[in-house]
Amino acid sequence: MKNSISLLPRVCPVCLSGAKANIHSQHFDSLSKGSLLEGYDVVLCGACGAAFADNIPTQEEFDRYYGQMSKYEYDFSDGKVNGYDADIFKKSAEFLLPHIKRDEAIADIGCATGALLNEFKKRGFTNLTGFDPSSSCCKSGQRLYGIDIRQSTINQLSMVSDRFDLVMMTGVLEHLCDVEASLVLLKSLLKPGGRMYLGVPDASSYHRYFGAPFQYFSMEHVNFFAPNTLSNLMLRHGFQTAKIQRVERHLGPKSIEPVVLGLFSPFSGKGDHPKVDYDLETEEGLKEYIHQSKEIEEKINAKIQTIVASRTPLIVWAVGTHTLRLLKNSSLSEAKIVAFVDSNRNYQGKTLHEHPILSPEEIHSIKGEILISSQVSEDEIKEHLLASLKWTSPIHTLYS
Ligand SMILES: [Zn+2]
Repeated sequence: MKNSISLLPRVCPVCLSGAKANIHSQHFDSLSKGSLLEGYDVVLCGACGAAFADNIPTQEEFDRYYGQMSKYEYDFSDGKVNGYDADIFKKSAEFLLPHIKRDEAIADIGCATGALLNEFKKRGFTNLTGFDPSSSCCKSGQRLYGIDIRQSTINQLSMVSDRFDLVMMTGVLEHLCDVEASLVLLKSLLKPGGRMYLGVPDASSYHRYFGAPFQYFSMEHVNFFAPNTLSNLMLRHGFQTAKIQRVERHLGPKSIEPVVLGLFSPFSGKGDHPKVDYDLETEEGLKEYIHQSKEIEEKINAKIQTIVASRTPLIVWAVGTHTLRLLKNSSLSEAKIVAFVDSNRNYQGKTLHEHPILSPEEIHSIKGEILISSQVSEDEIKEHLLASLKWTSPIHTLYS
């Protein structure tokens, strides 16, 4: 499958300039099925300073990948959000509350099960609509919150006839290959004078919230926004920044992702149209982040080298981006791997490097030592192995 994917050079998603400079090349190993790309270049726009992934597959390829893997469907939690997600939805609501009225028509694009909309419902808002490509999310939203969620991809928004006072989109823009076309569709949903609310990871702060090396350059994220570049993007689309704020999004007990929240209003037409300013924060922040990543990666690779040298049969826990990077960038592929384990059912039954990907329950059928290949969930997985699965053989960790 990977051979049939053509990789496309991109223009800057913020200012559309073709001038760009490579600052890092990210490599992933690939799963037997359902893999999307072997890597990409992280580049900086020479005209506006925004960062983005270059030489990536088309939006259609990404859509197919998300359809297959659909890890955003909350399969394992019956549609309910965990406490960490609930926290960022609450921060979004608090950010917006002073600026919106309770009778405004609000749409959330890519709303999953509608947990953000529910924050507004709890606060007395009545005109709430969600859009999400997943049919199971639509059903869960109705069941959990009694909120109207319609099944729609971003492209299908062109068929929506309703118009809204506020269109929200959080955690989506960083995934989109074609930011331009998507924003045009989003704008078409607005009533005259309607506003946009966007939330994206803050790439200019990655170095302040370091987790695993290069983890923010994930397979799914292809745009690396910062407060200034998000404002620049909206400026070009005719919106001024009404409010912009950096917040922390907790992903787990040891993991925080920096996020930018922005509210944008259309230009009144009075005064000069502000100009796009070159953003210096992205380059400075990302270069520091890449430097940190290389340093930590060296330490991790030394640990893996010791495991490889021992020739012990190894079960690698988790097959996400973290493992795919290690297989490509460390000596892990030379270890005596006997199996992989992952709790995501979409991976189970597939193979990686010709080794089976098992469910956690199947782990006792294999003899070996375990390597936990995750920074975010390292403690949690270790606890699960010891307490629930009663694992007694050695467990190797890379971070603690
Ligand atoms: Zn640019």
